[in-house]
Amino acid sequence: MGPPTVLTIAGSDSGGGAGIQADLKTFAAFDCFGTSALTAVTAQNTLGVHGVEGISPAMVAHQIEAVLDDIGADAIKTGMLFGEETIRAVVHTLEKRFGKAAEGGRERAKVVVDPVCVSTSGHSLLPLEAVDTLRTVLLPFALVLTPNIPEAEFLVGWQKGSIKSIEDMQRCAAELGSKGVRWVYLKGGHMPLPKGEDGTKVVVDLLWDSVEQKVTTEERPFLDVLNTHGTGCTLAAAVAAELARGKTVPEAVLSAGNYVASAIASSYPVGRGAGPVNHFH
Ligand code: PLP
Repeated sequence: MGPPTVLTIAGSDSGGGAGIQADLKTFAAFDCFGTSALTAVTAQNTLGVHGVEGISPAMVAHQIEAVLDDIGADAIKTGMLFGEETIRAVVHTLEKRFGKAAEGGRERAKVVVDPVCVSTSGHSLLPLEAVDTLRTVLLPFALVLTPNIPEAEFLVGWQKGSIKSIEDMQRCAAELGSKGVRWVYLKGGHMPLPKGEDGTKVVVDLLWDSVEQKVTTEERPFLDVLNTHGTGCTLAAAVAAELARGKTVPEAVLSAGNYVASAIASSYPVGRGAGPVNHFH
């Protein structure tokens, strides 16, 4: 029997730090066989996104079908989805294959959604009009959603900076869960919290189980480093890889969080801007 298979439906980062390039490296680091359906191509380097061109929604669907018809996918990750029509095409194609969310398709497809809207360098990766489609069409099909704090605030329509505490994170995750997502893994990297007298800071990530209405948190030391390009893609890809390997969602997010923390701790400079995290540490 071959290795577990994982499909990424995402955009290309020519700079190699984020997008499908980060996903495929992550899948390999977890001993999974990675496949990809490209949604868009970016002209990008460590300094930023300089151009974006989309792939037609029909071609995105065609890539997904070609992969699933032959290789299959034990889990799926979505990243940059480029536009409204692409989101609809992706969900339609997955529903045809795995069944509708209400008929168990969500549990069979095991889709991890990284709600990519804007790059760290400030470039829009999803038009504003498409955000509503992401909320209403994709989220109900997501097994796990992995927003960072700004993305979570944006998706529930809260003002930027509204989340100031772990309690706020929990309220926001619960609200996202009420949109149909089974599990919300809300990453606290944008809100390092002081710990103890010596000024050290920690990052708290929170997992919300929307069926049991239960929350668990993980705490790790905050690492203030420059080279964190692609951490969001890497985290979601690692969760998908662990799901493909048969882990439960709580086990998968714990392992993925540890993997990203080590990848950040051992990141290195490439180019003149924000370099990538180290996938093979
Ligand atoms: N480019 C692509 C193709 C992406 O998918 C993403 C994020 O998912 C980014 C750029 C942004 O990465 P970052 O915010 O880590 O710079």
